[in-house]
Amino acid sequence: SSTFYQPDTVTCNGEKFKIFITKDQIDERLNQLGNQLDKDYEGKKPIFIGILNGAFIFLADVMRHVSIDCEVDFMKLSSYGDKKVSSGQVTELKHIDAKIEGRHVILVEDIVDTGLSMNYMVKRIKENNPASVAVCTLLHKKEATHHDVQLDYVGFEIPNAFVLGYGLDYAQEGRNLSQIYVLDSDEK
Ligand code: 5GP
Ligand code: MG
Ligand code: MG
Repeated sequence: SSTFYQPDTVTCNGEKFKIFITKDQIDERLNQLGNQLDKDYEGKKPIFIGILNGAFIFLADVMRHVSIDCEVDFMKLSSYGDKKVSSGQVTELKHIDAKIEGRHVILVEDIVDTGLSMNYMVKRIKENNPASVAVCTLLHKKEATHHDVQLDYVGFEIPNAFVLGYGLDYAQEGRNLSQIYVLDSDEK
């Protein structure tokens, strides 16, 4: 029978990664975030906007941890290409379809690194005059963030190392890992 894919170490595109955040730790944090969102958005019917591709697994899990009425839509950005360092440019590959004027928007991202993508996203979303915009990110590399971003919900603060799994890829591989891994040569 099949189970979640969760080895202790993994090789992806020829590079070794080791376990960094376990499935149990992720599940515990999802419970806390879900409870917090339930309280903060009671009676507001928020719309979650996931940023593809990286946020798809976190978004699916976060949504299943809230009990309030909510909706979902997606935006697609690309800034990393297939490398481990950001290109420094944001390319919008898909904008949202939903009408968000007057709505409470929760942007859901896998990771905020320099903050460039999230800074861009928030500006774009605000052009549509939503009632409010909040940011929910699974991971935050605090030391690496130099663009102006307001993070309302953060799963885990992490050091400036390259991570993989639970939706995050390395050259499109590794998204199906159910835990989060760090590049072995980067410090933990
Ligand atoms: P930022 O615009 O904040 O510099 O970068 C945000 C995007 O870069 C994230 O949405 C993610 O796609 C990618 N990214 C940043 N750091 C990492 C990382 O450690 N691992 C992976 N797989 N992607 C990352
Ligand atoms: Mg992303
Ligand atoms: Mg990527």
